[in-house]
Amino acid sequence: MTVPETRDVVILGSGPAGLTAAIYTARARLRPLVMEGEPSSTSDQPGGQLMLTTDIENYPGFVDGILGPQLMERFRAQAERFGAELVTRRATRVDLSERPFAVWSDASATEPTALARGLIVATGARSLMLGVRDEDRLLGHGVSTCATCDGFFFREQDVGVVGGGDSAIEEALFLTRFARTVTIIHRRKELRASKIMQDRAFANEKIAFRWDSVVTEVRGEQKLSGVVLTNVISGNSDVLALSGLFVAIGHQPSTRIFAGQLDMDEAGYIHTTIGTRTNVEGVFACGDAQDRVYRQAVTAAGSGCMAALDVERWLGDTAASLTDL
Ligand code: NAP
Repeated sequence: MTVPETRDVVILGSGPAGLTAAIYTARARLRPLVMEGEPSSTSDQPGGQLMLTTDIENYPGFVDGILGPQLMERFRAQAERFGAELVTRRATRVDLSERPFAVWSDASATEPTALARGLIVATGARSLMLGVRDEDRLLGHGVSTCATCDGFFFREQDVGVVGGGDSAIEEALFLTRFARTVTIIHRRKELRASKIMQDRAFANEKIAFRWDSVVTEVRGEQKLSGVVLTNVISGNSDVLALSGLFVAIGHQPSTRIFAGQLDMDEAGYIHTTIGTRTNVEGVFACGDAQDRVYRQAVTAAGSGCMAALDVERWLGDTAASLTDL
């Protein structure tokens, strides 16, 4: 295998953050290489989490909404129009100890897949899922991981939220604006969420609770029609008719390959300071890989733009030393 050409910018990830970074760096004539990931059934795939959603109505500029995969196709086409090169490879190993940075898609290979003067990490995050049969099939068809994105479609319907943390309660409270009833399904008898969020949930007449319960089955042909709930203490099961099920049991940033090299919090979200800079000079992080709070397509795209401007400035500032690379 031959040593790859050293690129000015390599971008890992092709969700809204990665592709926005690609559009900006391509227009800045930095010829970015985007390692977009490889198809899989999880959100770690080309296009990111939006590939698993249906209608998106809150992305500015699309008055009538747009399908998630269509939106990502447009991001992609726009990046390619300006000369970004996209490869369907998943980064499985990186060496950030020296520049140029090395990225492997085949962890056992000697030669890296890409060498980068500047690296943008936009590997995103994935929602933790229940792991029950048919959950993947009904994702986007009643099963959702984002109330802000999909709540609007459940006006006057009965929906459930799985989880007992702040995210679950926040999602449940948000959903009461649209849904007829919201049932919080939690595997214990006590919520993990902060007291103030708990109080709000308990005070809301639309919210009901199913304690000590887990979802053991999701049902529906084209769309979700209900779930089977199993009581973890009695072992008894029953069917709850629901047209929406929001899974809010936490997120996992896709940052494992950077462990020990990039500073991150205990959950794996990369620390960024001064815009999108990481602890390694020349490495920038954007999107959900470094955002545990907002996690929206538009905020990811915004931080992708920031990372592109940051890497462009950094390359400019270090131009003299780059000739030695
Ligand atoms: P979290 O606090 O880790 O809560 C996850 C919830 O899902 C827990 O109640 C957990 O149950 C449950 N769960 C985990 N795996 C499960 C499974 N396989 N099946 C069923 N239930 C499962 O996650 P989060 O709610 O996403 O919050 C993450 C962090 O962000 C927290 O620090 C939170 O405070 C913060 N946050 C803050 C706000 C806010 O302040 N407005 C909003 C959202 C998030 P157990 O309780 O039994 O472990």
